[in-house]
Amino acid sequence: MFKNFNNKNYVSGDQNVKVPAHLNFGKFMLDRIRHASDAVALENSDTEEVMTYRELTQFAVNLATLLCKLGVSVGDVVAIGSERRNEFVATILGIVFSGATYTPYDLKSGRAVLRHKIELTKPSYFICSNQFWLKNGNFLRNFHCIKTFLTLDDDIDEIIIPLKSLNKNIDVDLFEPVEVRGGNDLAVILYSSGTTGMPKGVQLTHLNCILNSLPDDFNIDSLQTMFLYGEWYHNYDTFMTYKFLAMGKRIVYLNCTTPELFLKCVQDKKIDIAMIIPSLVGRLSKLDNLDKFNLDTLKFIYSRSSPLHVKTIENLRKRIPKLKVILQGYGMTEAGELTSETWGFKGPKPGSVGMASPGITLKIVDPETRVVLGPNQRGEICLKGPVFMKGYIGVDPSTYLDTDGFFKTGDLGYYDEDRYFYIVDRMKEIITFDGIQIAPLELETILLSHPAVKEAGVVGKSVLYFGEVPTAFVVKMAGCDVTEEELIDYVASEVSPEMQLRGGVFFIKELPRNPRGKLLRKELKEMLNECSKTI
Ligand code: AMP
Repeated sequence: MFKNFNNKNYVSGDQNVKVPAHLNFGKFMLDRIRHASDAVALENSDTEEVMTYRELTQFAVNLATLLCKLGVSVGDVVAIGSERRNEFVATILGIVFSGATYTPYDLKSGRAVLRHKIELTKPSYFICSNQFWLKNGNFLRNFHCIKTFLTLDDDIDEIIIPLKSLNKNIDVDLFEPVEVRGGNDLAVILYSSGTTGMPKGVQLTHLNCILNSLPDDFNIDSLQTMFLYGEWYHNYDTFMTYKFLAMGKRIVYLNCTTPELFLKCVQDKKIDIAMIIPSLVGRLSKLDNLDKFNLDTLKFIYSRSSPLHVKTIENLRKRIPKLKVILQGYGMTEAGELTSETWGFKGPKPGSVGMASPGITLKIVDPETRVVLGPNQRGEICLKGPVFMKGYIGVDPSTYLDTDGFFKTGDLGYYDEDRYFYIVDRMKEIITFDGIQIAPLELETILLSHPAVKEAGVVGKSVLYFGEVPTAFVVKMAGCDVTEEELIDYVASEVSPEMQLRGGVFFIKELPRNPRGKLLRKELKEMLNECSKTI
């Protein structure tokens, strides 16, 4: 149904995507969950709280009806702020059913970021948990845009109304979500990850959400229980949740995911598919006591959000013999999943993030000349397609779209002759030494393959005449010792001369990461400047 773009170097996923004519994301979800009855939809593995499909639907329908009675309508923004809990998802659905746009806030968010996000989206209703209110209530009162506060819990403050006191059971069979114009009206505002500055408000329409929630191509029918982080303010968990709920599966999560708790959860809850992030895969692959858990049910691991090293995949696969596959995807808040190994006609390929997702058209362009490149040529990944967001709030589209209307991702990558994609690194993070481009990620991969290295981050240190020299920050494995010289020599034996760690190696206790585990190289750079001052 979507127009193909005519350039032999454009790479498109399946353009024959079928979406319902109503383009109403609320209706799309309700049609799929309404009759799933007493099967478990969501389960918090820490608290053992379970929400069935029947309870999920009832909660969302009650909330939508209540919001409509309170005067919420299409175009209003309703915020949700809460710790991870089943009601988080039920609330999101309720808001979508009411025709309003939801925007999720993380309990761990600092004040500056929270203020920035509220000022961007101007919610008029705020639904939160008591935990969120206790942390932020006094601060939230100052925002005049917020007319009504509602809590998921019991009475805690006179200005915040407990949902329970207002909600009556509505007949789910008679309920229909409020009509929307799905190609235009917003279902959700998420936030770009903000690794380079304050997050931007990413506006996603109902159509964007439907496209992101269509089932994947891999053998999902045999899989019943998915583990995910439960970070419903991030696109990855959000859309995986919708996808799995739309298929009637059970979703399990933890309040706080450590490697050990994750493994225990896989064992106790018989998880068969885990949607996790590369830093967890990396930690699992080096975990001493992994073998003490029974992980026989775990068949698939899917990882997205940041790079996953080939060696890490190999190591973990060796340690979990029943695991069939670790698949990768490449995605972003602005467009959901752009490529995935679930779409590969040749199966997964080492180091690749798979093939273009349905509805997506990708091109690789030379960052300088903007000429479209062919297979095996590195350049900026750009994308177009109906999954792409409506836009950032308050940002001129000409700053992020090229003249052909493609979104400039800022990611450096390429595709091979089979049209499988590979991510090299963020363009801004490429180190240029004597005119030669070096991807920090490549050096991090090599460092990680050293047995004494737990984590590694590489950035460029400015030097006179030559540009930048690669410099590493390393976290050692507990109980292992290794010297700077040993690591420099180890890397030197694997790379071309210009890629050597000329800036040296700094040993630190922990690498700076954002809540999704993404390495914050900007902070490493700042640490490097500090280190240079003290030398
Ligand atoms: P976010 O909007 O938080 O999902 O971040 C999107 C960014 O994460 C992308 O622009 C990439 O830089 C990075 N990213 C996502 N998936 C991958 C992947 N599989 N490999 C490397 N980088 C990735």
